Amino acid sequence: MKIHEYQGKEIFKSYDIPIQDGYVIDKIDDALPTIKKVQNNFKTEAVVVKAQIHAGGRGKGGGVKYSPTTDDAFKNVKKMLGMNLITHQTGENGQKVKKIYITQALDIKKEFYCAITLDRSKAKDVFMVSSEGGVEIEKVAEETPEKIIKVWIDPLVGMKSFHAIKLANGLDLSGQAYKTAIKVFMNMYRCYIGTDASIVEINPLILTENDEIVALDAKFNFDGNAMFRHQEIAELRDTNEEDPTELEASKYDLNYIKLDGNVGCMVNGAGLAMATMDIIKLAGGEPANFLDVGGAASAETVKNGFKIILSDKNVKAILINIFGGIVRCDRVAKGVIEAVGELGLKVPVIVRLEGTNSDEAKDILSKSGLDIIPANDMQDAAEKVVHSAINN
Ligand code: ADP
Ligand code: MG
Repeated sequence: MKIHEYQGKEIFKSYDIPIQDGYVIDKIDDALPTIKKVQNNFKTEAVVVKAQIHAGGRGKGGGVKYSPTTDDAFKNVKKMLGMNLITHQTGENGQKVKKIYITQALDIKKEFYCAITLDRSKAKDVFMVSSEGGVEIEKVAEETPEKIIKVWIDPLVGMKSFHAIKLANGLDLSGQAYKTAIKVFMNMYRCYIGTDASIVEINPLILTENDEIVALDAKFNFDGNAMFRHQEIAELRDTNEEDPTELEASKYDLNYIKLDGNVGCMVNGAGLAMATMDIIKLAGGEPANFLDVGGAASAETVKNGFKIILSDKNVKAILINIFGGIVRCDRVAKGVIEAVGELGLKVPVIVRLEGTNSDEAKDILSKSGLDIIPANDMQDAAEKVVHSAINN
């Protein structure tokens, strides 16, 4: 689960991480009073106007505007509120801006990158910092990876000061700023563990002209499975920012992720779903989604899953790949027929069913009168579905 920058900064505050502070608005009527409030509170005329969407790269896309005067700030809010912000993380359709954060403007001397995430290959947390912070960290990682300093932290032992010292040394800091950076890094790790985050990123963490260390941005990803024990974080969820089909799927406990291709997939079990996507790619196609209907799917779950696939206009052919263990294949067949009965079917469906009651299922489907193409095995299914998607 993701949250907005302004919400992330509130969490940082509670972990004693210094932030660039401000106030959030969602309607133009609040713009002027809020701009004035920021100006008064932080004793500056200049403010920064920041679009709040669940994607990075806002600066480059026009979603972060330095505004030297009240007039500039108001014009920037007016332009940003409701605009469709396109960044390299939003995809080509962009994301509509519904909230604006009006913040204190700071004089930046240096911008650093800092992030913590889990390194699965080492079974440890990895804490990364770089003196090349700001908006181009992907480029740094690709072209000059030696400029990213990493320490690995055993979660059972926790972060120790020597880890933080190694990170701070890599940023060429001195005096009070050096000491503060060490504290900020320790607090960031405490925050990462304390909130069950899977990513905590500050890009940029800045050194101001007054040699203060401040988090200018805040990015979190939380482990959805841990949200039951963080009610206050779960409440920060903003469903406006989520893909509508993914949102619909989450209501039915379906593991659905929308992708860019045109081959819809309905599979039971995450492992089989991953393998299905691989084999579709091997056959020259592109999956339109990942959908795991679960190991114990009922006709109802299958129906809802199939409806979500049908609602995606990019889908040109559908592959149903079910291995009936706990799931009975005849239930899957009934779910598909019910969904098609409600929504109609304009694309070919390729079906590979194996396991419990697969013969009954094949029988139900072949008598249904639907445009269904049976497949013998996974490879056959993948080739048929890719072929159908190309010709449809
Ligand atoms: P994003 O990562 O989505 O592009 P950021 O919050 O990191 O958004 O802002 C992008 C860039 O905008 C920062 O790297 C920084 O250079 C600039 N910026 C943000 N806030 C300020 C500020 N208060 N004063 C000057 N520049 C700022
Ligand atoms: Mg940023």
